[in-house]
Amino acid sequence: MTSAYDDNNIFAKILRGEIPSHRIYEDQYTVAFMDVMPQAPGHVLVVPKAPSRNILDADPTTLTQAITVVQKVANAVKDVFDADGVFIAQFNEPAAGQTVFHLHFHVIPRHEGTALRP
Ligand code: 5GP
Repeated sequence: MTSAYDDNNIFAKILRGEIPSHRIYEDQYTVAFMDVMPQAPGHVLVVPKAPSRNILDADPTTLTQAITVVQKVANAVKDVFDADGVFIAQFNEPAAGQTVFHLHFHVIPRHEGTALRP
């Protein structure tokens, strides 16, 4: 069974300004900031402001707004990091690798011939 949303999660604290972050984008619905442990240079997290635990309990409007920002950020990091491609990832529940329980999307610029950090 999926747990309920808990607003003590780290991203909720970042959204409230209780924990610092390096924000690269913000609008009414969404924030994007640098991942503190990047899998590759330019690893950004796109985080909707609305409280949902992951994609499983998010409302469709939140998802639509978030994916639009994911696209903007993907194009920006591709340009800024002169990348060959962009990896987008999103995990739901511990069994799938989720560690922070506020919906977020990983946006990671990729270069030919390089590996993601393990
Ligand atoms: P998940 O596995 O839940 O999809 O990924 C959570 C991500 O959040 C990880 O890539 C991790 O490095 C990142 N993260 C965890 N704590 C913090 C933090 O305090 N600040 C930032 N900017 N990123 C964090």
